[in-house]
This record gives sequence, C-alpha cells and structure tokens, in this order.
Amino acid sequence: MTDWKLSRRIAALVPSSTTAAGKKAKALAASGVDVVDLSIGEPDFPTPDFVGRAGARAIEAGRTKYTDVAGEAALRDAIAAKYGREQGAAVSLENVIVTAGAKQAVFNVCQALFDEGDSVALFSPYWVSFPEMVRLTGAVPAFVPTEISKRWPPTAAALERHAPRDARGVILNSPNNPTGAVTSEAELARIVDWCAARGAWLVYDETYDRFLYDGRRHASAAALRTKYDRIAVTGAASKTWAMTGWRLGWVLGPAPLVAAIGSYQSHTTSNASSISQAAALEALTDIESTSATVAGMLARYTERRRLMVEGLSGIDGIRCPSPEGAFYAFADVSDLYSRKSVAGSGAFCDRLLAEAHVAAVPGDAFGDDACVRFSFATDEARIREGVRRVAAWAPL
Ligand code: PMP
Repeated sequence: MTDWKLSRRIAALVPSSTTAAGKKAKALAASGVDVVDLSIGEPDFPTPDFVGRAGARAIEAGRTKYTDVAGEAALRDAIAAKYGREQGAAVSLENVIVTAGAKQAVFNVCQALFDEGDSVALFSPYWVSFPEMVRLTGAVPAFVPTEISKRWPPTAAALERHAPRDARGVILNSPNNPTGAVTSEAELARIVDWCAARGAWLVYDETYDRFLYDGRRHASAAALRTKYDRIAVTGAASKTWAMTGWRLGWVLGPAPLVAAIGSYQSHTTSNASSISQAAALEALTDIESTSATVAGMLARYTERRRLMVEGLSGIDGIRCPSPEGAFYAFADVSDLYSRKSVAGSGAFCDRLLAEAHVAAVPGDAFGDDACVRFSFATDEARIREGVRRVAAWAPL
C-alpha cells in the first residue's frame, strides 16, 4: 500500500496496447520460444546509410548542443520545401516546428488546441494514442465509425452522421494505422468543407505518406491550407527513412499555432535531438537518394502485403481486406472466437501467442474488437512462417 496517488489524468490512462503486445512477445522469446512477432509498428529496414552518416558527422562535428526549440532553421526550411514541392503548399519556416517524432507532434497540437469539455471527432478504427491524447487535454473523443465492407474509408458523410455538431476538431490519419485506409483528394476536400462549416480544426496525421499501394497517390491536407487555415498536418522521418529510434517529426500549421507549440515545447522537451535533426536534414534534402530508398522499401512492402493478405484470407474464419497504405493487415477474426472460446480480440491474441507463437495486436486497442492487426514490416520468410502457423492453429 502506498499513501500517495497518481494524478487523475495519469491514473485514467490506458497504457498503449501496441507496446504491451510487443512486450509479451519479447518476454516469451526471451524464455527461448521462437516467436513470429507481427505486432511491431516499425520498419525492419535499417536507417539508410546516407542518413545515418549525416547523424554521425553531426556528432563528430560537435553538433550536440541545444538548438532552437522549434528546430534548426535549415531543417524547418527543408520541411516547408517538402510541402511546397509535393503539395504546392505556400509555407515557410514559421509554419513548421520540429518535434520528437509524430507522436509528440500530434500530442502538442492537441495540447495547443483542445480544452476541458471540448469534443474531438476520431474516425474508428483509430491509432491507439489518439483517444488518450485527446483525453489528456480534458477533451472528449467522439468516435465516428467506418466500415470494413468498404475498407474503412473515413468520410464527411460519416462525420455528418456521427460527429457532434460542435466538434472542436477532427483527427484524421491517412494512410491509416491500423486499417491502411487512404483518404482520396476528393474526400479530403469534403472533410475540410465539413470542418470549415463549423470552424473545427482538422488534425491530419500523415506519418505513412510514402507508403501507398496500387498506384494510389497521397492527398495531403497541406495542399488545402489556402482554402481553410485551421489545419495542422503532422509527419515524421520515422517510417519514411526507417528512423523510429531517432525521434524526429514535425507539425505544419498556421504560424500562431506553431508559435504556441514552440512556447509549450520550451517548457517541456525543448528541441528534438540535434543529431537527429542533422540526419533528417540530409534525408529531406537528398531527394534522389530518398526516392531510390523509398521505392526499394515500397517494393518490399508490396510483396509482403501480398503474402500477408493472401495467406490470411485463405484461412477459414478470417476476413482480411487488402490495405491501401501503411504496413498493417487488419483482419476480422471474430468468426474464430467461439471455436477458440474467447470473448474478444485480447484473449484471441493471448491464445495465438501462447499456442501458435505468433504475436499480433488486439483490435480493441484500435476501437474494433472483431479484428486483429498483423504488421507486415517484417521479412518475407517470417511473414510466411507466421501465416503458416496461424493457418495450422486456426482450425484446432
Ligand atoms: N501516428 C501514427 C498513425 C502512427 O502509427 C505512429 C507510429 N506508430 C505515430 C503517429 C508515431 O510516430 P513516431 O514514431 O514518429 O512518433
């Protein structure tokens, strides 16, 4: 017994289940079991050499001190230039703040915009951290369901039907983790119109903006800033250059929002790592090397997606739509619940791990207890082996 208690905010937090699933898998593997870990939400590729070397050079040159809280000017310029080049967005350094990953970017935007009692619309299935980030501001998440039969498209029509009329914000993630849903340019414009009609903010998380399949093009809300200015776009180096450990992301938004986040960051984390900033600058400015590296990764993800989706879809009782982007298969496994005597996705994943030695993340973490998320950011042989084990275990 302790004679102290946690703050109400922290005591009410639901710990991240993606992290929890990974921990369980690692614990079992540490006891000597050969676990196929399909729970991981990060690329298995190494950080590209040209990027890693820029980080090493920064250390050798002694660039190991504080930078501007908002990030080095050259990096903010390079991020603004990315949006100019790719989206035709007229933005400059005052529209950009560098953060310690996309997670901090979304968190800080929520802190800057939402208040106690506000409602914030979230499309469901959602990335695990969105509801908790909203709750940590005192605001209330309002879930807007999307449908598996159509591959979960977030739409303005769904907002119209399910979001509160006085929503202060909408959080949209494209490509989506966990469903892979990609929001088209036309739908994004309708969602922005919906926000504009009630003065709501659009928080647009495009962490997976380079990983779309079947020739789909990423539509960025950055391109719509001239039409409506209450838009905050969050992105990161984490997935594009396989830099999850470097902790480097950003927010693009109106200058006063960026300045407010700068002020918040000045009292919390200060600047993102100076070394990671140097590496990200190289990543963003060596466009040729980036294109080649990303094309290589995308080709591998495309093949892995095929293996995962074909493999899982071939198993009786599993429905696995092919994701349009990101690197997760979100499969409906609920037809197996009675056969496995489980009440939901959490118990299902526990049995899958204990009996088939395959780790995956329960869908209830993302707001859909019928589904389970299988990551295909793992090499092809492991995906084949994972699918083989699920196929052998499912009928038992
Ligand atoms: N947004 C989404 C949708 C994600 O899936 C993730 C990573 N799992 C993040 C943000 C956080 O990325 P980072 O590692 O850059 O903080």
